[in-house]
Order: sequence, then C-alpha cells, then structure tokens
Amino acid sequence: MHNNNNELTLGAPLSGPVMPLFNIDDAVFASGALGDGIAIDPLNDSLHAPCGGVIVQVARTLHALTLRADNGAELLLHLGLDTVALEGEGFTLLVGEGARVEAGQALLRFDLDQVARHSRSLVSPLVLTNGEHYELRARALESVKVGDPVLQIVPRQTPRAAATPESSDDEVRRHARVAHRGGLHARPAALLRQTAQRFDCSARLHLGDRSASLDSLIGIMGLGVEEQAQVEISCRGKDREAAIQALLQVLQTPLAEDHPHAAPPPPIASRPVEAGVLHGVCAAPGLVSGPLARLQGIQLPPDPGGHDAQEQRQALNSALEQVRSEIRATEQQALSRGDHAEQAIFNAHLALLEDPALLDTTHQAITHGSAATHAWSQAIDSQCQVLLELGNPLLAERTNDLRDLRQRVLRALLGEACHYELPQGAIVVAQELTPSDLLLISQKDVAGLCMAEGGATSHVAILARARGLPCLVALGPALLEIAPGQQLVLDADHGRLELTPDQARLEGVAIARWQHQLRRQRQQERGLSPAQTRDGRTIEVAANVASAAEARQAHLSGADGVGLLRTEFLFVDRRTAPDEREQLDAYQAVVDAMGDKPVIIRTIDVGGDKQLDYLPLPAEANPVLGLRGIRLAQARPQLLEQQLRALLQVNPAQRCRILLPMVSEVDELLQIRRCLERLAGELGISQLPELGVMIEVPSAALLAGQLAEHADFLSIGTNDLSQYTLAMDRDHAGLAGRVDALHPAILQLIASTCAGAARHQRWVGVCGALASDPLATPVLIGLGISELSVSPPQIGEIKERVRHLDAAECRRISASLLQLGSAASVREACRQHWPLD
Ligand code: PEP
Ligand code: MG
Repeated sequence: MHNNNNELTLGAPLSGPVMPLFNIDDAVFASGALGDGIAIDPLNDSLHAPCGGVIVQVARTLHALTLRADNGAELLLHLGLDTVALEGEGFTLLVGEGARVEAGQALLRFDLDQVARHSRSLVSPLVLTNGEHYELRARALESVKVGDPVLQIVPRQTPRAAATPESSDDEVRRHARVAHRGGLHARPAALLRQTAQRFDCSARLHLGDRSASLDSLIGIMGLGVEEQAQVEISCRGKDREAAIQALLQVLQTPLAEDHPHAAPPPPIASRPVEAGVLHGVCAAPGLVSGPLARLQGIQLPPDPGGHDAQEQRQALNSALEQVRSEIRATEQQALSRGDHAEQAIFNAHLALLEDPALLDTTHQAITHGSAATHAWSQAIDSQCQVLLELGNPLLAERTNDLRDLRQRVLRALLGEACHYELPQGAIVVAQELTPSDLLLISQKDVAGLCMAEGGATSHVAILARARGLPCLVALGPALLEIAPGQQLVLDADHGRLELTPDQARLEGVAIARWQHQLRRQRQQERGLSPAQTRDGRTIEVAANVASAAEARQAHLSGADGVGLLRTEFLFVDRRTAPDEREQLDAYQAVVDAMGDKPVIIRTIDVGGDKQLDYLPLPAEANPVLGLRGIRLAQARPQLLEQQLRALLQVNPAQRCRILLPMVSEVDELLQIRRCLERLAGELGISQLPELGVMIEVPSAALLAGQLAEHADFLSIGTNDLSQYTLAMDRDHAGLAGRVDALHPAILQLIASTCAGAARHQRWVGVCGALASDPLATPVLIGLGISELSVSPPQIGEIKERVRHLDAAECRRISASLLQLGSAASVREACRQHWPLD
C-alpha cells in the first residue's frame, strides 16, 4: 500500500553538476514527455538510490531502472543519453528487479570512460514518471555529491485528472513489429504514452500473454519489449481507430537517434495520424512551402572564470541599457499602432529586466569571477526553474519571456558575434521562439514558423498573427529531428506540417499562394472605389491610424476616412504634456493627409495601467475598472480642455469629428458637449465638429438610445466591449482565444446599439478589431453597422468582402446568430453562410 501523503526528499543519485531537464540535449526528456525531473552530469562511476524503495523495473540493457519509493512515487534513473545502444556493455547491475533498496545504496556501476566514449552523453536524467499524483520541487541546482538533497517530492492535493474515455465495448486490435533500436526503452515508451494520451480512448500494449496500459510508462517498459518483437495494440473508446493508427506508427517508426550512422533519419510524427505529417495548433493562419531552417539559441562556450568584476559589471549594465531602450522603442511602436496586446508583452519584458532577484543573482556570480554572459544566463535559468516549480501553466509560459531576455542581453553582450542567417523563404523551426526572435525573424524574408512547444495564445503567437506569418505551435519534439534544408509544406489553417511533399503538392501550394497574392493585389487596386453590397447599401470602410504618415498610406489605399485616431501617441513617453499648438499641428496633419475625407479623433484614453509621467495618479487596485478614458479627463479637466481647444481649431471643422472613450452614462456626454460649446465661445468659433461616443462599456450599449439622442454618431470599441462583457482581460495570454467579439452576448449589445441609434437617425461604426475580421463583416452589416474602421492593410480586403454580400440576407441570418450559445458556434455559422475564399 502506498503512503501517498508523505513528502520525500531525494538524495542525489550521482555526483556532479545538476541541470534542469528542459536544458538537456534530448528532445524527449527535455520536452517533459517522461515527466518532470533533473539531470546530473556524473563525475563518479556509480548510481545510487535517491531514496528507499523497490526496484520495479530494470532495462534489459541495464542503462536505466525504475525505483518505486515508499510513498508511491516512481522514479526513472536513466544513465546517460542514448546508452541503450551500448547493449549493457560497461554497466554492472548491483541489485535485481524486485529488490528492496535503502536510500544511498549503490544500484549500478558503470565504466565512465567507456560509456562516455560510446554514447551521446553521460548526462543522466532522474525523472518522476507518475507526476499526476506528485510534484517535484528542486532543492539544488548546482554541483552535488551522492546523497545531497536534490529534489523534494510532494503529493498533489488534487491529482491531475486522468482521461476518462467514453465507454464502448468495441475494441480494435492490431499487430505490429517494434522498430525501435533496443526495443521499447524509456523514450519510445514515452512517445507511445504521449501519443495515446492525445486520444479519447484507453489503449493497451500486449506482448504474449502479458499486457500493460499505455497510461503507464513503467508498465510499458516493464513488458521488456525488444527490437523486432511482435506486439499487439488494443484500443477502446471514441477515438479508437485514429488512436490505433497513430500508435502503430509510433511502434513502427524508429527514433532518429536510434540510427546514429544512418543518413538523415525518417522523421517521426508527434501525432502521427497521417504518414509524413506533423500536427500542431494554428497560431497564425496561412499556407506556404519552403526549406526548413533550424533556429538555435545562443550557445556559450565554457567560462574559465576569473574575470574582472568591474569590467563585467560595466558590460552587463550597458547591455541591459541597450536592451531596455530597444524594448522601449518596440513598445512605443506598438502603442502608436494602438496594439495594446503587443505593448503589454514588451512592458512585461521591461519589468522582468529590472527584477531584483535576477539582477542580484547575476551580480553575485560576477563578484565570484563569472563572465557577465554566463552570470546572466545562469541567473535566468534558475529563475525559470523557480517559475516552473510553481506548477502554474501561465507562470511556466513566462519562462519563455525570461529566455527571451537571456537571448537579447546575450546578443547585446556579444555584439556582432551573433546574428541569424536564414535562407530566403525558409520555414523556421525551433523548440520555442521568443518574442525578440520573432521580431528579428520577421525582418528576414521567411515563409513561416514552426515550434515544438508553445501555445496559440502565447506572446509569440500574437506577434506572428500581427505580422501575417503563418505559424504552427505544439508540434512536438519530432519537429526538431527533421533535417535542415528539407522542403516542407506548412498548412497552418489545418494545423499540418507536411514533411514529404511531392513536386505536385509544392507546385499546388505555390499556385495557391500566387492566387492569394493576386487576389490581394486586385483587392488593393479596387480599394479606391466605394464598397457597396450587392443590393446597393454603401458601407464606409475607414482606417484606424496613429499618425499623419499612416493616414497618408490609408488614403492611398482607398480609406473612406479615418475611423479612429488614437491620440495617446502624442502624450506618452515624454516628460511634459504636448501644448495646444503641438496638438493642433498633429491633428491638422492627419486631416490634411486624408484629402476630402472625414477624420474621427478620439480624446485621450490613458489612465488605468497607461500612466503619464507628468500626470501622477494614485495606484489602482483594478486599473481597467478605474480612472481611465473620459473618467480621467473629468478628474483632470485641464488635460481634456486643452485637447478640445486644439480639436476645435482643426480646419475644416466639418471633416473633424470628436470621439469620447469609455463613456458609461449620458451625463458624461452632456458635460463634454457643454464644455465644448463653452470653449468654442471663448475661441470665437461657430462651427463645431461632430461629437460621437464610443460604445465600449456594456452600460453604454444598453443606453445607446439615450446616448444617440445627444451624440452625432456612435462607434463601437469591440476590444473593450469584449473585455467588459465577458469579464476577461483583453491582454490575458491564457484567455486570448476566448476574448472573441463574435460572442453572441456582444452581438446582442451591438444589435441594441444599432437599434438605439436608429431611433434618432444616427449612424454606428465599429472601430475595434472585429471590424478588421472578414468573417465578421456580414454580421456587422446585418446588425446595422454602416462604417467599419479597419487596419490600413485590410482596406481592400474588407471592401471586397462587402461587395460580395447581400445586406438583406446579412440582416436575416445575423438575427438568428444572436440566439447561438458561444463565439465558436457563431464563427462556425459564419463560415457556413459566408465562406471566406
Ligand atoms: C476598443 O476598445 O475596441 C478600441 C477601439 O479602443 P482601444 O483598443 O484603443 O481601447
Ligand atoms: Mg477601448
């Protein structure tokens, strides 16, 4: 009986430097497929029990064994990497399978020289294989001696949920011959288990009259399946057919490292439901082909130590300053595009860069003679480890941001010594890219991106989408085994990476791409004409811009006006507020850039988490629910009055429209209207610009009728309206996929906004990101929107979309979408009714 309540401290099984598992040079161990753990690079020649327990399994080739601790935790002790190939040579087993051992007892002796010479590496993983019941906390991440405490095993309060396949009596069974060199040792067994876990079914492996569930790594290894053995797989449950195909392929496809002398190994699929295809998650859509290019992090040579601390500190400080100013510039660009998500990413990077724990650890190492490069790199590693140990997936995702900062600062420290060489049109492959990698890569002419890890809501995914770079994530460790230069097809729309496309397929992709480009080109050419639906309704397609230069570009692309000029770009990142003259010049330049078209200028929307140095405000417990938008302007009236004075002087006034952000009740509008009239009187101006209200708070959508009575127009900010309606932070990486403005609740608010505006013959536009989503165009037209303000490169595309629609049909179908239960079902229905080409 296991005593699952006991915490347990594990002593080091070997003497030598300890490293986190994700850092070791083995894709399967590093991916965590076998479980959490650490690795030790041994300096001694015997492996010892990390705790008392029973040896439940010994590999036939003696290079690995599993110990079940008295509290039930199962520990895989794997000596070296790829040591299965030694066929037991150089290993002497000191205990047998089933033996009871005490903590510190020697289990295995090995010939250090022989193993080192004939295997890939001596680095030896220690892995907890039943992590669904326990978690690991690192105790030491430096050099240890046998028996030093290295890990703490803590039972989980709530065990990780195990899959509960649908019950079905229909079982499918298939025979297979095991192709893995050395049989089903730890890594192929882990791949088998990982593959089984992707399907909704229960699967078993049978060898003669013995069998094991594919849920259990120990069980699989315990069967002692040898290379070329004939085994049988059985699957029950909903996905049994797909699962059995995938499992057979894993059994019959040798791991790349199993063929040390062979020419480029056949790639293994991480979810091999089709031969020659890896499946991943779409982070940015598109269909492209190109040669594989591998991107590797910066590898540092060993550090001899003994460096001058003063010099290293100086080098570090100037590298940090360089990186800080690069990040600030990127953040600023994001802000001027109104890209809050991107801005938030880089803002978080700045905060991490100033983290005292990180800086203290780095400075300590420098004081002890480390090079700044190594001190920084190791400090980042240990911070990553701390985050990973918290067991919180969102925090674990942040390790990628830390690794990003490692790369950035190393790049700054090493200067010209490192840069990316990427072939033109390449599909770039990496374990996981960092945001700054992505910024660098997107300046090169690459076709697409693929990552073994990562999520569709990660920061990198957001950046890839914004740059239109097709990107698949979570393709699994097999991705990293594909040879550089191999021609691939990346079909991100369908989550597929095709590893062996034939000539016909490559030509097909090239033609599809060419047709896509041609379509875009035609759309852009036709962008200058107005957009009318098939039944004659005109939809204004305007642009969201942040500067006069962008406005000029939008005008050239055929924008029917500027639907949103975010004025924050003038106010942030400076020591004093821009004066009235500076503001007037900036607004006038945008109006002048737009020919005879109207320009909607939104009053300043700062406050909350967007602070101005010259406008100190108390810290807020809930910044997005605090003093922001128009509320801040009321609290600090001088700021808004100065801006309104500048806006009143823009010429001609008929082409300038003022838009108020974050309005939540009619009084706010009335107060600003009165203020505007007073200021106009003071300036001797008789022609007032139109005054509109942003509908981005649910209360404003519900009061649209009352607001429209006093406003000249309404403009819906779907970004904030989604955030406040769904109670989901619009910048929350983990919720990014769910903050979807096509949610039926938001559509109902849009419908009620249009109905309220229609009662007073006012028009309604959309200036949030939903306006740029072609899938949403028919719904918005159907609900009564007459202006869409989109990102400038999409003007032609959205206009073309409008021309293919019938407004009456849009109205009829959109009404029925309001009754659906989720954003996903609305999206699906849109795809059915109005397919995208
Ligand atoms: C919105 O909230 O949809 C909007 C357009 O404003 P911002 O993105 O600037 O908050
Ligand atoms: Mg907003």
